[in-house]
Amino acid sequence: MGLASGLWCYILPLADPLQPSAYEMQCISDFAENEKSHGRKLGVWVQEDKVRPQICQAITDASNKNPTERILPSKHNSICCRSFHPEGCDGRFVCHAAPAEAAQQIIEDGFIYSKHRLTGLGLDELADQGTWGDPADYFDYVALARGNCVAPDIVAMSRQFGRDLSPQEADEGFFPGVRFFFDLASLMQHPRAVWDGIHPIKIRDNLELNGNICAVVAPEFYPNGGKLHLQTSTHLNNKIIYLDHHKLPSLMLWSNAALEAVET
Ligand SMILES: [Zn+2]
Repeated sequence: MGLASGLWCYILPLADPLQPSAYEMQCISDFAENEKSHGRKLGVWVQEDKVRPQICQAITDASNKNPTERILPSKHNSICCRSFHPEGCDGRFVCHAAPAEAAQQIIEDGFIYSKHRLTGLGLDELADQGTWGDPADYFDYVALARGNCVAPDIVAMSRQFGRDLSPQEADEGFFPGVRFFFDLASLMQHPRAVWDGIHPIKIRDNLELNGNICAVVAPEFYPNGGKLHLQTSTHLNNKIIYLDHHKLPSLMLWSNAALEAVET
């Protein structure tokens, strides 16, 4: 989030503040490395004195890990979405969500584009427009979330509303986006993969569907009640799954059902 002082701040709540998991330590290391690689100075506030040396060491040692050595996000190793999923959200599959019209465009393009590439706007211009104070380089990436994370639907709904919604607002007026699913272990081999310590992975500039996409999960209907049918090319024909959102009327229910549909 952006602060009044002009600083940018990210808060990583730890599942156990006295004993960070190996995955959480990797996130801290990734965050430090990513910030340093963009020339930004980093200040860190740690709540518990006991773990400060451990976290300082992770920051000092920050370096780009070989993808094969990376710890994958999973239930229990972070608290992502625990207010929606008591065990945390899962990360074998990662996803990007978009409203139906934007999803149709992604399918026709064959690519998910970064906001910078999609809009043609400058990175600094996009950063000035952002609500959360994200640095300009964040708009140069396609960011992926964990497979049943609730964040992608909040982002998709915010696109439809034209402003950033809170999780509570999104849950009250919930309507799901179309989720594009990718296998995280495979995506880690992507030549433009980057780890910022916040997202499980992100890809610079664009992510091609062909060769990467595992499944697309879409609501059966548009918000106006019309039947949704995504026009697809052959390589996606058998990868689109429609779910009835009327039976899954919340961020938690939809995100879990979408991931389960991919896993089964
Ligand atoms: Zn999550």
